Amino acid sequence: MEPGIDHTLRGGWTLGEHALPPHALRWLRTRIGLAEHPTPIAPDSVLTVPEPELSIVGRAALESVVGAENVLLDRNSRLGRSGGMSYVDLLRHRGCGELAVPDAVVLPGDPDEVVAVLRACAEHDIGVIPFGGGTSVVGGVTALRGGKHAAIVLDLTRLNRLVSIDPLSRLVVLQAGVRATDAERMLAAHGFTLGHFPQSFERATIGGFAATRSAGQASAGYGRFEDMVDGVRLATPVGELDLGVAPATAAGPDLKQLVIGSEGAFGVITEVTLRVRPVATHTRYEGYFLDGWDKATDAIRDLAQHRVLADVTRLSDAEETEVQLSLTGGVKAGAVRAYLRARRINDPCLLILGWEAGSAGELAVRRAGTLRALRPHRYVRLGKPIGETWRHGRFAGPRQRDSLLNVGVLVETLETATHWSQLSTLRSAVRGALQRSLGRAIVMCHVSHAYETGASLYFTVLAARADEDPIGQWQRAKRAASEAIAPLGTITHHHAVGTDHAPYLAGEVGSLGIDVMTSVKRALDPTGVLNPGKLLPAADRG
Ligand SMILES: Cc1cc2nc3c(=O)[nH]c(=O)nc-3n(C[C@H](O)[C@H](O)[C@H](O)COP(=O)(O)OP(=O)(O)OC[C@H]3O[C@@H](n4cnc5c(N)ncnc54)[C@H](O)[C@@H]3O)c2cc1C
Repeated sequence: MEPGIDHTLRGGWTLGEHALPPHALRWLRTRIGLAEHPTPIAPDSVLTVPEPELSIVGRAALESVVGAENVLLDRNSRLGRSGGMSYVDLLRHRGCGELAVPDAVVLPGDPDEVVAVLRACAEHDIGVIPFGGGTSVVGGVTALRGGKHAAIVLDLTRLNRLVSIDPLSRLVVLQAGVRATDAERMLAAHGFTLGHFPQSFERATIGGFAATRSAGQASAGYGRFEDMVDGVRLATPVGELDLGVAPATAAGPDLKQLVIGSEGAFGVITEVTLRVRPVATHTRYEGYFLDGWDKATDAIRDLAQHRVLADVTRLSDAEETEVQLSLTGGVKAGAVRAYLRARRINDPCLLILGWEAGSAGELAVRRAGTLRALRPHRYVRLGKPIGETWRHGRFAGPRQRDSLLNVGVLVETLETATHWSQLSTLRSAVRGALQRSLGRAIVMCHVSHAYETGASLYFTVLAARADEDPIGQWQRAKRAASEAIAPLGTITHHHAVGTDHAPYLAGEVGSLGIDVMTSVKRALDPTGVLNPGKLLPAADRG
């Protein structure tokens, strides 16, 4: 087996621990009423892992494609790929509710093996769950069988190569299992970057980004992931789609867009051709405070509509800003509040702006453009320390989830997007729905991505976890939030559909839209083996 491939995934299943400082814990206890001694959740070791049910002929067919050493049936390999990284997934791995454990983990070594595995699965009635980094937070990698006799996780870890690079055209071809961190390392050797930095950067893969229409924190500058895709190779049980011959084309509808966001339900992405950019040599991250949500979002709208957004543009509402200040704790937070009050910023909303450029001059010009459009909006600049603190901690948030779970906190995020005219209504509707469902909860929100016509909203929820039925507690809150979102915006701006958002897809694209997608699925996956229960659950029957 290749060195460096973690075949069990158990060690790094969550994103690691990051102990909560005592002042943060005290503050949380006061705000959401945590019990002094929360009920401990059962450790992993007590989890029930059923025996694999893969038929003898099915297993033999898979082994003949990838070799017996790449069909894993052991407890740890299967347990390590039982679900993604949502709050509910984490609870299930701590012994709450039932885990969907795959019957085997299969590791193909190249795109041809992927096609052959899919053919074998179609022939032997086996569901296939494509698995990149396993960071899905919407049930995208849950090992559902969809009526098949068994379900395998198709782990793309071995598709980890940079296939080719064309510096003149600024294009790279990467295999789907390349992790974002490795992609950046490989590209940096050629002086390039993708500029795609979602919070799941440390684990997620190129194929996963394409399959979910991911958006990184610097999407205002580098674009969403789909903006970077120039070509894509998709393996299906009936053959291969290989798309992308030119930067633009009028040769009919863009079939690439059927593949991007298809969440493993139409096929397995094996290679992606991506636009790259030179690595920025000059960066500047700063913190600004604006007064109140409505005025602050007016400012972001102005930046977007004047097309002078910084590469990273992230606006926290007053609740999120207050939590960030409180968790900083002590004299520093108090001093910031007093300073802002003295400058008539009574309801502070923190704005992080980050510019990345190829020269000091370019950076200065772009920053000046942003600040010119910001000028009519009253703001206070607290400068580089806040911006740099955010930049250095930008991937740390997820690490605190384990610590929060350990002390009895319900912690989860959800996201949406809408047009500017609906943005504040949507935020209020989601906040209200979550608070009514969860009672004494902290509901924080930020604009994570801005466009000329609207923006996305990203919510983080903290509440005291219920001792009885904690999964039900969150599922009720999530349903309430989704029902608030459905009439006002999209059910997902970048987390994708998975199982969790599937009930809301028809509301967004209409029944004809579902029919179109179902027809595509039937053409590419006639027996319905691909990612059962996700995106289009009703189309699984094949
Ligand atoms: C802490 C945390 C922070 C996050 N932050 C962000 C963020 O900032 N922005 C963002 O966009 N998302 C974010 N996410 C969500 C998640 O990281 C993205 O959905 C990511 O794109 C998934 O990549 P992955 O490789 O982990 O895919 P996986 O989780 O393995 O899979 C996701 C879906 O894609 C399918 N899939 C995976 N690989 C392939 C393939 N090669 N071919 C076909 N289908 C495939 C899977 O079956 C599944 O349906 C976050 C998640 C976590 C846990």
